[in-house]
Amino acid sequence: CGIFAYLNYQVPRTRKEIFETLVKGLQRLEYRGYDSAGIAVDGPSKTTSDRNNHSICLIKKTGKVKALDEELYKKDSLNLDEELCTHFGIAHTRWATHGEPSALNSHPHRSDKDNEFVVIHNGIITNYKELKKYLINKGYEFESETDTEVIPKLIKYVYDNRENDSITFSKLVERVIKQLEGAFALVFKSRHFPGEAVATRRGSPMVIGVRSEHELLTEHIPVQYNSAQHKEEVHEKNSRNRADSSSAINSVGDGRAVEFYFASDASAIIEHTNKVLYMEDDDIAVVTGGKLSIHRMNRQAGEDPVRAIMTLQ
Ligand code: GLU
Repeated sequence: CGIFAYLNYQVPRTRKEIFETLVKGLQRLEYRGYDSAGIAVDGPSKTTSDRNNHSICLIKKTGKVKALDEELYKKDSLNLDEELCTHFGIAHTRWATHGEPSALNSHPHRSDKDNEFVVIHNGIITNYKELKKYLINKGYEFESETDTEVIPKLIKYVYDNRENDSITFSKLVERVIKQLEGAFALVFKSRHFPGEAVATRRGSPMVIGVRSEHELLTEHIPVQYNSAQHKEEVHEKNSRNRADSSSAINSVGDGRAVEFYFASDASAIIEHTNKVLYMEDDDIAVVTGGKLSIHRMNRQAGEDPVRAIMTLQ
């Protein structure tokens, strides 16, 4: 079970190069064990820039990462030479906990047939049965036997019931994880938020790597973190990466070319950069406009998950 995701911002990469980066990342995580693998990337660009024309393509395969790798090059419909200047790709190796190893049960999981939201997950959602029942009652159709699939369905549910169009990707994710019990590291990609990434974790590991021209020039990425508020919670290893600052703006990236990597383990990232951040429980990391920001979600104690969803309507 491993997560690997790669976002290139203002760094032109062909779809083939993106596949190679994703596959290599998964291979570095192979030692963690897996029974199937899958990825999600943007589909070939349409002539219009209308974001509704933006599509996401899923490719999943049981067995070795090598089998997935071979599958990627069989897809004639995917233009391998197309250059994607800003792009977010996600990849996953699965170690089945709920539902047998199969292409349908492997990740990424999707919200619907149009792949509006796609998600990769490491861990176990212990309250998935209640959530699934609730979402089925609301008319959402499930295609797998996994615990994970409630997550993309839930984010679509929150999105479909949003009070206004200015809601951010990270807000949607925040609302979703408030409903989840169990352990998870999650990475979200959406047709509605092209070039954006949201990652979060609770109980399962997640590391973020950052590589930028800026970094090469300064040898130091000024990742600021709200350490005044979280001082006692911030782990030693993180404080090395997060400058001591009481500023509420916790971000890195200045709109220039930058690449971000998300992985279950730093071993999948170090060939790209040694600038890594270890996410803490309930951290939400967002990349938008080439800028990474991290904040910690406040969990409301004693909130009844299913009742809380109902108030969203
Ligand atoms: N519980 C999820 C599943 O069975 C994720 C397993 C994993 O961490 O790979 O699909």
